[in-house]
Amino acid sequence: MSQIGVTGLAVMGANLARNIARNGVPIAVHNRTASKTKDFMDEFSGEGDFTGTETLQEFVEALERPRRIIVMVKAGAPVDGVIADLEPLLDKDDIIIDAGNSHYVDTRRREEELTAKGLRFIGSGVSGGEEGALNGPSIMPGGPREAYGEVEEIFTTIAAQVDGSPCCAYIGPDGAGHYVKMVHNGIEYADMQLIAEAYDLLRHGIGLDVPAIKAIFDDWNRGDLESFLIEITATVLDKVDAETGKPLIDVIVDQAEQKGTGRWTAQDALELGVPLTGITEAVFARSLSALRDQRRDASGVLAGPKPGGLPESLVDDIRAALYASKVVAYAQGFEQMAAAAKTYNWDLKMGELAKIWRGGCIIRARFLNRITESYDAHPDLVNLLMAPYFQDAVASAQDAWRKVIVSAVEQGVAVPAFSSSLAYYDGYRRERGPANLIQGQRDFFGAHTYRRVDKDGSFHTRWSQDGTEVRTD
Ligand code: NDP
Repeated sequence: MSQIGVTGLAVMGANLARNIARNGVPIAVHNRTASKTKDFMDEFSGEGDFTGTETLQEFVEALERPRRIIVMVKAGAPVDGVIADLEPLLDKDDIIIDAGNSHYVDTRRREEELTAKGLRFIGSGVSGGEEGALNGPSIMPGGPREAYGEVEEIFTTIAAQVDGSPCCAYIGPDGAGHYVKMVHNGIEYADMQLIAEAYDLLRHGIGLDVPAIKAIFDDWNRGDLESFLIEITATVLDKVDAETGKPLIDVIVDQAEQKGTGRWTAQDALELGVPLTGITEAVFARSLSALRDQRRDASGVLAGPKPGGLPESLVDDIRAALYASKVVAYAQGFEQMAAAAKTYNWDLKMGELAKIWRGGCIIRARFLNRITESYDAHPDLVNLLMAPYFQDAVASAQDAWRKVIVSAVEQGVAVPAFSSSLAYYDGYRRERGPANLIQGQRDFFGAHTYRRVDKDGSFHTRWSQDGTEVRTD
């Protein structure tokens, strides 16, 4: 009998199944299109104890009870379809694990529905792409604690390991795992956008060529910015197109696509009222990039400075601006998770989250150790920017950060994530901002009332009558 099963043998499911089998766990595999299961078995069955199955009936019959079934199919309706097909074939207490990029709202609903039917449901984030799935992903499981206990050994074994600890930890009930994975992806969007803005300034602001920029990213990867995304940026920049002999980057169309997790993160931040500016700008930047035809037409019509001629001495300032903006993006992402934890009553362990992102996943970075240390030292930290380490890091980067944004603005190089992160920082560190004026305006046109700094209560000024103030509460 197999100890666990995977249905959905596209790149993620196939690699996750191989990872599990390579760790000595007998596994049953299944795919809607049976020929893919056959292809999988032909290619990989020698790697471990696999049982290839053609039908869902055969699949569930191959599994030990209580059954543990990982569903790794396209997110959305296909997950509901697979669950509906599995349900009649399962027994009480069997466990369905949705390891795809499902929206946490769907996960909450599915858990509720399945629990009512006597089944157990784990919604688990899995990060690291195909490479991570095969060699060790970062795993973010949510659902009933006791159900997680039944997959914990397999999950912690197949996860990436950093400094002897697995990049997998129980996140919380119902949608918590998929929520955290969603924010992880949002942070990934911001991180990628910030790197793209740094590249744009190096390329078009300073005017460096691609090999020189590649060397800069290699250098940055030896310091505070050391991370998977900086590392692969250098690799992408190093690639020469076989057909044209140009750097591959110059023949790739400048339209960034999106599957939805960044957008969900931003939408959810709007719902929660969390100022998630960096990630949201990153989502909008992808939307703007998609308007390729409009941009082509506008480029010949709309006025603006022509970039170029910034001094090479700005390279290190760009590195500092990238680092400071990245701190803000993470601070905002963690703030959002804290707000969600309050809303949904999840006990999210912030330091632990940073710890399980140190390996396996796309945003793995040296800097995550500093986040874990900050939350370990100050478990009630309200904002990462307030941690002594990050206060100092941003303080020492901020002159460069401001200089880079001023230069970008003067050059007409759009740096939405750099500049919105600085705007957030400047807004956050102001004891008294300009929202008093907004309250005055709201009271003027809508009698929405305001509070005063010098006494309690709600007040309204009779703007268009005698101008006197009345207390309204
Ligand atoms: P895809 O998202 O491309 O999905 C393809 C798989 O889903 C195939 O096995 C396909 O079966 C199956 N499928 C699609 N529709 C149905 C349906 N209605 N009923 C049953 N099966 C269906 O695969 P990936 O491996 O790329 O991703 C799987 C999940 O993991 C997704 O949720 C994705 O977002 C997530 N993920 C992906 C990452 C990546 O790097 N690709 C990284 C992290 C998470 P068939 O062969 O029959 O068409």
